[in-house]
Amino acid sequence: MQKKVVIPGEELAIAEEYVGTENTFQENEKIYSAILGKAEYDARKHEIDVSAEKSVKAFIAGCKVTGQVMAVRKSRVLVKLLEARLGPEKRVLTQYFATLFISNVADRFVKDLSEEFKIGDFIVAEVDSIKPYGVYLRTDKPSLGVIKAYCSKCRAPLYLTNNKLMCKRCGSVETRKLSAEYILKV
Ligand SMILES: [Zn+2]
Repeated sequence: MQKKVVIPGEELAIAEEYVGTENTFQENEKIYSAILGKAEYDARKHEIDVSAEKSVKAFIAGCKVTGQVMAVRKSRVLVKLLEARLGPEKRVLTQYFATLFISNVADRFVKDLSEEFKIGDFIVAEVDSIKPYGVYLRTDKPSLGVIKAYCSKCRAPLYLTNNKLMCKRCGSVETRKLSAEYILKV
């Protein structure tokens, strides 16, 4: 038997192959988890049950998240979440998209978000709040911001040199809201 961490609404199996028992529900011939917990598949009986376990903890406000920039608009950045931690402890993501508003980007005046983030950048942010229909982030600390960026002209990774982001391939120089933990340094 294998156990897997699942989130509410996560698809577990096709109803043809399995019967959901504890903490699951069925919709359109598919079985979903109703809770955050661990799913157990019994292949012999063709049963799935999901148990609530104390060791499975969801992400909360104050968590540090890693994400990738999906879109940069006038007043906000849309981020796809990849991982969450509270201190050293890994937390389970229960939502996968988050919003970073321009007012929470830096502790200085930010005029143009496109000079701070670009599509495809990897960032580290803090979870400001989690609401049923959205997760809100902030990056207004030195350790938070872009940790890996790509050249907006040729897509090669950018290297940090003398506080500037440089493209080794085409020579482009770019700006970002950088994290002190930027990965590629010269
Ligand atoms: Zn380039």
